[in-house]
Amino acid sequence: MNTRPLIDAFQRRITYLRLSVTDRCDLRCSYCMPEMMRFLPKKEVLSLEELHRLSLGFMARGVRKIRLTGGEPLVRRDMIDLVRALGRHVGEGLDEITLTTNGTQLARHADEMARAGMRRVNVSLDTLDPARFAQLTRRDALDQVLEGIAAAKAAGIAVKLNTVALKGINEGELPDLIAWAHGQGHAITLIETMPLGEVDGERIDSYLPLDSVRTQLEARWKLTPSDHRTGGPARYYDIAETGGRLGLITPLTENFCGSCNRMRVTATGQLYPCLGGGEAVDLRAALRSDPGPHALDAALDRALAVKPERHSFAIRTRGEAPALARHMSVTGG
Ligand code: SAM
Repeated sequence: MNTRPLIDAFQRRITYLRLSVTDRCDLRCSYCMPEMMRFLPKKEVLSLEELHRLSLGFMARGVRKIRLTGGEPLVRRDMIDLVRALGRHVGEGLDEITLTTNGTQLARHADEMARAGMRRVNVSLDTLDPARFAQLTRRDALDQVLEGIAAAKAAGIAVKLNTVALKGINEGELPDLIAWAHGQGHAITLIETMPLGEVDGERIDSYLPLDSVRTQLEARWKLTPSDHRTGGPARYYDIAETGGRLGLITPLTENFCGSCNRMRVTATGQLYPCLGGGEAVDLRAALRSDPGPHALDAALDRALAVKPERHSFAIRTRGEAPALARHMSVTGG
């Protein structure tokens, strides 16, 4: 077996895989996808066995953390079986198996996921206002999400909230959302909206640079830059008054690619070495052409060679095409 570490042309070591298990979602967040989103035929999606083989191939090359994502990972029926299969490697090969979810199905799965070895989840939550939630996600499901978050906490799974900051939508609510999260014992990270895929409205209308949000928050609280690092793109602040931690992810106002340690694989097995780049390597073809590890290993080496130094997102003008046609729900957010 090839155990050579995954090191790209810019000497960055890849230790983190974000693996999408489905492109389907039960919400339709307006900044993520159009209302009439077209999803892939199920037969194109990797089987559970293929997802597992692929994960083992990455682990053999030094990946220590796997995050399951989507679409909405919990809408895939056999998803918990994959969590169980990967959970067996935690402590032996894997440091962590984790999940990014919108939380709608979390209440049903939290106990089982905890038993399978999941210790942390990220839950996406952009508002605590039921009407705003329904408008933003085009589904009336805030209560379900809040139940899901509570169930995860009760099962002993640490919850981190991710919130996309949106001008004129949840902008005025962000301090209250942060205070609520910290009051519940959850960390929270704000994210700038990224120009990925066509949506129904104009992205520039809701794009909110986080430097202005930080200024707004500093008028209310004392934010102290924190040394906390996860190897990811967020920069952290401790808030003295709430006693909690706030992350800021700023793909547009402050590039963070220098320390990138990750690769993303879609539900159909397309490996995207960069969220914001067009480069792709077909791992499904590799998996299906060779029952052994060689074709997959060669494909991983190709991905390392094409991983770009940095993405080049921008949101400048009205009517501008997205930086990439691919939606976040396709790449795996
Ligand atoms: N369904 C799961 C969830 O909601 O967390 C996982 C997939 S979702 C695509 C992952 C994250 O991407 C969510 O936090 C969502 O808000 C975020 N997202 C989607 N489109 C985005 C965009 N264009 N810019 C920034 N974040 C986006």
